[in-house]
Amino acid sequence: TDSDTADEAVRATCDDASTCKRFATSKGYWTDLYAQYFVRQIGERKAPEINRGYYGRVRGMNLLIDAFLKKTQCYCQVVNLGAGLDTTFWRLKDENIMPKKFFEVDFPMIVARKIHHINILLCCGVNLSLVQLSVSLTDGHSLDSDRYCIIGADLRDLPALEEKLKKFQINPELPTLFLSECVLVYMTPEKSSKLLNWVADTFPTAMFINYEQVNMNDRFGQIMIENLQRRQCNLAGVDVCQSLDSQKERFLSAGWESVNALDMMTVYSMLPWEDVARIERLEFLDEKELLHQLLQHYCICWAVKDKLSLGEASI
Ligand code: SAM
Repeated sequence: TDSDTADEAVRATCDDASTCKRFATSKGYWTDLYAQYFVRQIGERKAPEINRGYYGRVRGMNLLIDAFLKKTQCYCQVVNLGAGLDTTFWRLKDENIMPKKFFEVDFPMIVARKIHHINILLCCGVNLSLVQLSVSLTDGHSLDSDRYCIIGADLRDLPALEEKLKKFQINPELPTLFLSECVLVYMTPEKSSKLLNWVADTFPTAMFINYEQVNMNDRFGQIMIENLQRRQCNLAGVDVCQSLDSQKERFLSAGWESVNALDMMTVYSMLPWEDVARIERLEFLDEKELLHQLLQHYCICWAVKDKLSLGEASI
């Protein structure tokens, strides 16, 4: 059916994200010891502005994630929505800043692929220290262990999502960090707002970090939309991506207490300058203007609800 085709195109975006991240790490933009296990081939060359864009995205997300873990002293949960082949869990583990439990959710098909890779690693004895994690269940569709859990679910089906998270012992009373990195834009505004509402209603102490497109009204935004449409990929949620204000408003109207949003041009300019100077030496960038356009069309938005008064709003 048409909707199967549309979902398939959305699932394919998972490969875009992971191959771009894999390529950028192979060039030294940042270190990721685990990307290679989920994406075997380094793949074809990506343009320097794409690599710098991903650098800003990963560094920006990581700064906020780490701030939340610090604020809660890791006495918290993380739920990565539409996680794809993301490797954040392993980074936190290696840096000794693991939350009580780290959940990942994606379509069952993507989850099956990810678990397949993890199973191969386990069989081959690659030292991912998964043994330490005491994997208690990996049936191909979900993986559960004391600290790490991967769930196959459709984010548009909230009753099923809630049931699965409960089955794997999510604790709504614990401070919980939700992540969505280039995910909500593939859902209709109705569906994503229901999801944000459900999180706000269910988790009294929570932060939600959302990375996605913004300022999509102009010519450059139109080209971005057309590029995805050409691949049958419909940005169903693009109406929410008109401005930083519309991004903030979606959280406030879904019951979040306070919210911040920065475009990636601003985020990029706030990153530690020594490291930015380092990565800008990695590859020559001809098209500065193109990088700036790209950065202006993505944003990070973070919203909080702070029943336990942890001071999350200061993050
Ligand atoms: N967050 C990852 C990252 O940034 O590396 C992957 C991003 S990828 C662009 C979007 C991901 O969201 C895909 O893995 C896709 O399968 C997932 N996704 C989109 N809509 C979804 C839905 N309704 N239910 C579950 N997963 C979904």
